[in-house]
Amino acid sequence: MYRLCILLLALVGAIWCVPSPLKSPEQVEEYRKFLQQTRQGNNTFLVSSSAIAPGYWENSGKFEGDIILDDWQIDALVTDYAAGRSAYIWPNTRWPGNVVVYEIAAGHFNQAQINHIMWSIHLIEHFSCTRFRRRNANDRNYVRLTGYNNGCYASVGFWHDRGIHTMNLTPNVPDRGCFTISIIIHEWLHVLGFFHMQSTYNRYDYVRIAWENVQRGSEHNFERYGTNIVSNLGLPYEYTSCMHYFATAFSTNGRPTIVPLRPHNGVMGQQVYVTYYDWLRLRRHYNCPGAWSAEEAKLLEAEVEKYIPLMAPKADDEIIADTPEVVENQE
Ligand SMILES: [Zn+2]
Repeated sequence: MYRLCILLLALVGAIWCVPSPLKSPEQVEEYRKFLQQTRQGNNTFLVSSSAIAPGYWENSGKFEGDIILDDWQIDALVTDYAAGRSAYIWPNTRWPGNVVVYEIAAGHFNQAQINHIMWSIHLIEHFSCTRFRRRNANDRNYVRLTGYNNGCYASVGFWHDRGIHTMNLTPNVPDRGCFTISIIIHEWLHVLGFFHMQSTYNRYDYVRIAWENVQRGSEHNFERYGTNIVSNLGLPYEYTSCMHYFATAFSTNGRPTIVPLRPHNGVMGQQVYVTYYDWLRLRRHYNCPGAWSAEEAKLLEAEVEKYIPLMAPKADDEIIADTPEVVENQE
């Protein structure tokens, strides 16, 4: 048995094989349809239609909830799925020079929302050596930040042939919905090259997938990407990572779809703050100075502790009412 694997946390770009059976033509076609459907612009934003799942980014109707795939990524995923093996290399997805180039689509966000986006960028720059700059006329590859009304989602990593890289945040009052600061940073972490924590190759040491509770048709959102050549950047599996699904993601009945196997502090799949290890993974992925030093790690831990309360969404009575803008999805 062979199954496709994606380099998950280090994301330096290799795909490898782990066991999985050969697939029938019908299964392959079904898989391709599933992947293509995750890219369509008119997905239902499931939050409004589901009282069961409280998540935002998980429910945006894309691959694994909030990942936008390119044509070549779909082709590669389907080829590997069909063959039960991996024949190609997922490219290095780090942004050149550690600089993310972006533009904010005109007219999609109000000033309070733009300020929140800028705060997310400030936090990423504060906690890592990655930098952001606005697109200029010569930039062919950049992130276009849009505010369509269909969820929070992004493309994964930098790809030199992609041109416009996607990131969408449905407008909301700052600290609500896609405008929760840890969710904005979650989407930036996709842009910076990260996949979801629970799809890593060694997840079964840490979680059980309760398939009986997974919505029919959502099973592929629980793919596991393994490898025996990737590094998890020397860091442990983390239930509370801002990149982890919450316990009832894609549940059909409100019961957990992901069951932790080990005791842990904090809430699995919390969407309130970015953890020390989230930042350390980012630092290591981009080879930031001191990213592998124990001393620096201690300093980082203390700094993260200071910031966690600042990232927590404000209470309802602290939020100044603001009418979210709604931009029709024109994709
Ligand atoms: Zn995500």
